Amino acid sequence: MVLDKEVKYLPGVGPRRAALLASELEVRTVGDLIRCYPFRYIDRSQLNHIAEITPTMASVQIYARVVSVRLLGKDGKAIDDPGNRWGAVTRLVAKVADDSGEMELVFFKGIKWMHAKLTPGTVWIFFGKPSVFGDRINLVHPEVDPPTGSVNTGILSGVYPSTEKLKNGGITGKVMQKLMAEALDEALPAVQETLPEYILKEKGLVPIQYALRQIHFPQDQTALSKATFRLKYEELFFLELSLVKQKFVRSHAENGIPMPRIGQPFNDCFNALPYELTGAQKRVIREIRDDMRSGRQMNRLLQGDVGSGKTMVAVLTCLIAIGNGYQACVMAPTEVLAQQHFANISRYLKPTGVKVVLLTGSTPAKARREIHAGLEDGSIGIIIGTHALIEETVQFKALGLAVIDEQHRFGVDQRSRLWSKNPGGMPPHILVMTATPIPRTLAMTLYGDLDISIIDEMPPGRKKIQTLQIGERKRIAMYNFMREQIAKGRQVFVVYPLIFESEKMDYHNLELGYEEIMKQFPLPEYKVAMVHGKQTAEEKQFNMSAFAAGRANILVSTTVIEVGVDVPNASVMVIESAERFGLSQLHQLRGRVGRGAAESFCILMRGDKVSRESQKRLDLMCRTEDGFILAEEDMKMRGPGDLEGTAQSGLPLKLNIASLSHDGLILTDARNYALHILEADPLLEAPVNAPLVAELRKSRYNIRDYSKIS
Ligand code: ADP
Ligand code: MG
Repeated sequence: MVLDKEVKYLPGVGPRRAALLASELEVRTVGDLIRCYPFRYIDRSQLNHIAEITPTMASVQIYARVVSVRLLGKDGKAIDDPGNRWGAVTRLVAKVADDSGEMELVFFKGIKWMHAKLTPGTVWIFFGKPSVFGDRINLVHPEVDPPTGSVNTGILSGVYPSTEKLKNGGITGKVMQKLMAEALDEALPAVQETLPEYILKEKGLVPIQYALRQIHFPQDQTALSKATFRLKYEELFFLELSLVKQKFVRSHAENGIPMPRIGQPFNDCFNALPYELTGAQKRVIREIRDDMRSGRQMNRLLQGDVGSGKTMVAVLTCLIAIGNGYQACVMAPTEVLAQQHFANISRYLKPTGVKVVLLTGSTPAKARREIHAGLEDGSIGIIIGTHALIEETVQFKALGLAVIDEQHRFGVDQRSRLWSKNPGGMPPHILVMTATPIPRTLAMTLYGDLDISIIDEMPPGRKKIQTLQIGERKRIAMYNFMREQIAKGRQVFVVYPLIFESEKMDYHNLELGYEEIMKQFPLPEYKVAMVHGKQTAEEKQFNMSAFAAGRANILVSTTVIEVGVDVPNASVMVIESAERFGLSQLHQLRGRVGRGAAESFCILMRGDKVSRESQKRLDLMCRTEDGFILAEEDMKMRGPGDLEGTAQSGLPLKLNIASLSHDGLILTDARNYALHILEADPLLEAPVNAPLVAELRKSRYNIRDYSKIS
């Protein structure tokens, strides 16, 4: 099969270049190669004149001649001939010119290589984003392409992903284009259409062979747009189809416990509520209720910002299980959170008479034995706990529901152990709750086989948290402000960045910060507690509780306090070196205050040097409190792969051309379409769907399910 042919057999490749293509681009076969698309196109008709470039232009492309090149050292002094001291050169500045004027290009990396390339007199196409340096506009690290083809013919020419290694190995942009032309000529006739005819028609997609030809060598902008749309649609459609299919297969295979009733306990609790549920809470409870009475197992993710009222939803969900004669468990990632849940939930359960217990690592043996007995004979309705809950030999009389709070802290096998807790291994309904807002498009993909409910409305009467950013000059004023707040009886968080828990530097900052706070807020007037990741669980617990109980005015910490901790009396969150945090993390931290009646503040301490990106994050934080908006922005700025909580887990499969941040509309449509197709043909048995089955058989769709994202 020509598509499986290794690229080393293509003319001009050979084993050495083939190894490079494999290691740098994951391209091994001719089939891989033609699926390696340009990431941008040079449009010869779209050249800028140097004289017309302004700093506000998003990007510019110039066709220019190298006039001179300077190499500069750390001190800014010129190095005329570095000889073998290339390490001392920190900057390369090239002056380039076209007919309209001159400008400078600056390189900090790949200097030696760029120096060899940009010899005076040579002509290149430079592409980059203008920036202002002093009173001049320059391009920093522009892309440099040879002026292949004839200029100003309007032909779009693809630019392929490249690395220094590839270029050094002789695989330049030009060579890639030549390879691609050969590969297409040879292999295109063998490429099978992946989508059934009816899908192409209904969605107005161009055929695969046309799309592949045009994506590499577009005849014009329209053809390129059609090819791009088709390939993005195909990619996202198969991604979603594979995820949604897992869900269908499971819901057909896994019968769930039918829970047709609402029941008395639910009504007792509901009628005693001191407030009206928000519209979002009501909607979510309806969605959950429909799952639970469907006869299929519920697997639902409940997303809602900190303070949106997830706990209430969890309680009512548990009570549906109880009302149908089953038990429920609620699992939290830490002991502190389990205790907090226990306190809150017990309060809500008062009017119902349902028995609720707490089980954690520190529950004494005797109490433990009683709990085990109560779970087995069914006298305990709801149990709240940490991992300990599932690690033990706990057996239930009839576990009907498991609520998992902050799921990313829970491992796969831990969750699957829940199944064995029931006589007969009956699977309980699962509700996963998370306070980390994830953009919808990402959620659809990361948790593609979970149903998703979102509480996107805050309970009324919540006070806005005032967020401000200040620089070092205002530090003293900030300490004074902290004193004022403490004098009013409030408590203050001071958080230091600890991005890499192991870095000495970070601990140094934390310790210096702690000393400074101790100096500014001395005993006996003030009490300061500290929590960080190097402490033992007991130390952490001790210090955390001291603060939670009001015995300390200030808690100095790393981000370990991020998740869930509830100290309603804390009204100020100071975040040191705030520019070093990601948006989601800043948002999580800010969510620690504003939980009580007092007016609350989040103070972002900004370092002296802040990059443009970081500044954008800080500005956004000051502008909005909506976690979903922040998550969307975060994803746009950093790409989905870097989102917190998902960084290690990554996406289920690598996207070649589509982007979750930019192709949300296509993704949503593709997902709905996949659902629509599966509803009519859950196992894809219809002959017209045979191409779908064939495509899904490929190893790249053999993807992990939600349970592996942990
Ligand atoms: P989450 O778990 O989503 O962070 P909680 O369930 O802890 O939020 O709720 C935050 C606070 O809001 C709690 O004090 C809770 O009693 C209150 N609350 C929840 N729902 C409502 C509502 N519909 N109206 C008013 N207050 C509510
Ligand atoms: Mg909560």
